[in-house]
Amino acid sequence: MNFNMIHKLNPVVPAITPEYDPWDPIRSLQRHGKHKLTSVELTVTNLCNMRCEHCAVGETLTMTEGPRIPVDQILRRLDQVEHLETISITGGEPSYHEATVRDYIVPVLKYARERGVRSQINSNLTLSLSRYELLAPYLDVMHISFNYLNADDFHQVGFVRSGRNVARETAAKLYERMVENTIALSRGGMFVSAESMINYRTHEKLPQIHKLIVEMGCRRHEVHPMYPSSFASNLPVLSLDHFRAAIHNLLDHRDPDVWMLFGTLPYYACSQSEEDHRIISRLRKEPNVTVRNDPDGRNRLNVNLFTGDVYVTDFSDVPALGNVHADTLQQVFDRWENHPLNRSVNCHCAAASCCGPNLLVVDTYYKEVDFTRRKAVI
Ligand code: SF4
Repeated sequence: MNFNMIHKLNPVVPAITPEYDPWDPIRSLQRHGKHKLTSVELTVTNLCNMRCEHCAVGETLTMTEGPRIPVDQILRRLDQVEHLETISITGGEPSYHEATVRDYIVPVLKYARERGVRSQINSNLTLSLSRYELLAPYLDVMHISFNYLNADDFHQVGFVRSGRNVARETAAKLYERMVENTIALSRGGMFVSAESMINYRTHEKLPQIHKLIVEMGCRRHEVHPMYPSSFASNLPVLSLDHFRAAIHNLLDHRDPDVWMLFGTLPYYACSQSEEDHRIISRLRKEPNVTVRNDPDGRNRLNVNLFTGDVYVTDFSDVPALGNVHADTLQQVFDRWENHPLNRSVNCHCAAASCCGPNLLVVDTYYKEVDFTRRKAVI
């Protein structure tokens, strides 16, 4: 199937490019003069066939799960979000059951397409290609994690938390299927965005990981430092110097024709460090490189489709701020606006296009810094 043909049938939506990233909260902040709820993330399952070492939501993964809130009810809640621009679907592995794809995800994606809202799914792409083809006509971004050079890396990382021994051959089959699916979907015209984390395993091999991502035909390589979120809290934490060195090395060796998106970077234009200034300046100048401000706690809420609980992020320790059975998403967003934690990182330097640090970053590296008193210097 050529998915490009399907996209051409719906010419209203602009292409997602380095110049147009609707997930970046700075866009709505610039437009409205304050943060608006433009992005909703839906957790559609807690089931997954993997147990990755770094999984941000690993603690919530289960072996069975009950019924979801009916999709119509969720669409009604989404209808009330006046400035909605993006919907992200996450899990677990959203396509774990084909029925979830058909009966829940596709209706949400159709809704998004009809409303001109952009969509993303976070998937490990290790299951049958036919499930992902069901999504293709309506999906904007297929987001995958890719932190490997080969099946052995995948085997080491992907099943660490499964509590049982997963045979290398089993892991290798899944790895191969993921690679084949990525190639097939990319060839068909799907926008596959592969995310790599900078962590203790990957920081010295990012250029080779990047090469594989480019070879699979991905349109974008996302790169995020890994921070100690609850599930990954036991893993070694890299220093700010290590992250910086890994980013420079990746920039030195990347394919400049492929969009590289950095997110949740721990370097800010208000820093006094010359090394920080050097990396920020470099990132600004590099062609096809963007740095996305962190949507968590800015323009996005996460909804758990089983309990109805609404969170500011799907992985921080901030408890649910409301529930879709009782609250509109706007009411929950308003609650967060006045939350002391939000106030502690709610800064904005327009000249630097920066709207403040991520909560986990502050907690890990900048506990003593009051960002609300700082200003961009470059
Ligand atoms: S918005 Fe906040 S984090 Fe960003 S440069 Fe300004 S003070 Fe620093």
